[in-house]
Amino acid sequence: MRILVVEDSNVVSRILQHLIAQELGCDVDFAEDLASAKQLLERNEYFVAITDLNLPDAKEGEIVKLVLARQIPCIVLTGSLDAEQRKRLLQLGIVDYILKENRFSYEYVVRLVDRLQRNQSVKVLVADDSVVSRKFVRSLLEQHLYQVVEADDGHSAWDILQSQPDIQLLITDYNMPGLDGFGLILKVREKFSREELAIIGLSSDDDESLSARFIKNGANDFLQKPFVHEEFHCRVLNTLDSLDMIRKLWEQANLDYLTGVYNRRYFFDLYEELVIQKKQRRGTLTLALLDIDLFKQVNDTYGHDVGDEVLIEFAARLTRSFAQHFTVSRFGGEEFIVAFKGLNELKSFALMDKFRSQLESTPILTSRGELFVTVSGGLASLNIEQSVAKEESLDSLIQRADRALYDAKAAGRNLVCIGGAHGEH
Ligand code: GH3
Ligand code: MG
Ligand code: MG
Repeated sequence: MRILVVEDSNVVSRILQHLIAQELGCDVDFAEDLASAKQLLERNEYFVAITDLNLPDAKEGEIVKLVLARQIPCIVLTGSLDAEQRKRLLQLGIVDYILKENRFSYEYVVRLVDRLQRNQSVKVLVADDSVVSRKFVRSLLEQHLYQVVEADDGHSAWDILQSQPDIQLLITDYNMPGLDGFGLILKVREKFSREELAIIGLSSDDDESLSARFIKNGANDFLQKPFVHEEFHCRVLNTLDSLDMIRKLWEQANLDYLTGVYNRRYFFDLYEELVIQKKQRRGTLTLALLDIDLFKQVNDTYGHDVGDEVLIEFAARLTRSFAQHFTVSRFGGEEFIVAFKGLNELKSFALMDKFRSQLESTPILTSRGELFVTVSGGLASLNIEQSVAKEESLDSLIQRADRALYDAKAAGRNLVCIGGAHGEH
């Protein structure tokens, strides 16, 4: 990623250079005037340009048009801006303008560039029956490099959300034929939680109670039409920032900090519900409890850091082998659990034994060279419908897997064993 900075003040350039290197670590070219900016623009591809308005050879902000003509997002950094200039720049389609007031102004610029980069992978759905309003919102979003999808009423918005689960933000109008904004939000919130999808409601109605009702129905925020560029972008940014924050919290609570696979808490939340709450589900659940063999020796011989490297790679292999269809979680220490939902013992055994034998023959590359490690595993399975009748708990299923694991260790390790049925010991 390459950034162009067009700025005649040496001091400002140096501040930006420092902050960009520190925060973004990408390549930056500097131009002091319009002429040299032109040359650079002809020779390079830029992700974004940060430009001053007043340059020695172009005092009227000509640089902005030059940058925008090349479809490069433009951030204006200027000493002053009157109301007329502001309006003109926004109409031209700049990303944002920032006044050089203090060091926070420069930090803001750098954060904005970072955000633009991340926005490229953020998909936003705009639901509005008015073409004009939809296109306007689309153009604002595209200035900030979001991916935009449009829907012209509530029902088609709902269909799109079902088929494109990677949409992170829904911006919806209130008045729409068929299914209106409230109806859409109520439906959406039944399926998508706040950490999965953020919602901003739009309305041109003068009903003051609408904003509160949008939020009570499950929207994260609300915007009254007509709104100005800055307000729109700030609301979207705030909403997505809090979405990121909620997701980070969720990850901290549910993912293992070392290996990135699910942790014990997540495993229990998911499978206790499945086994104990007797949700109307059918089929088999097989658990494979895994324990790396003689792992203490790895730590004792090579140090704890190398032990960590082995755990990370072990988890990565489990993920590659199983996570697409099954749940992989770290149970604690060097113990992991794979939940084969829908697979019986024999099928699960075949998969797990293949994993075991691949691990045995494929060394793990660590900072202290290649290490061979092996794993032992214990399997136990239950028929979910039967568990309701026989009332076997998740804990008891895990205990059966643990006894099978113990058998594998006792029989010499590097082995997968299948446990007895519920009730046997
Ligand atoms: P066995 O084949 O019987 O399982 O032998 P083992 O050495 O693997 O079993 P033991 O339970 O004696 O040792 C497990 C070791 O795992 C001890 C502990 O220090 C280490 N361990 C647990 N969590 C971590 C971790 O997060 N990082 C590292 N490096 N080591 C860990
Ligand atoms: Mg152990
Ligand atoms: Mg072990």
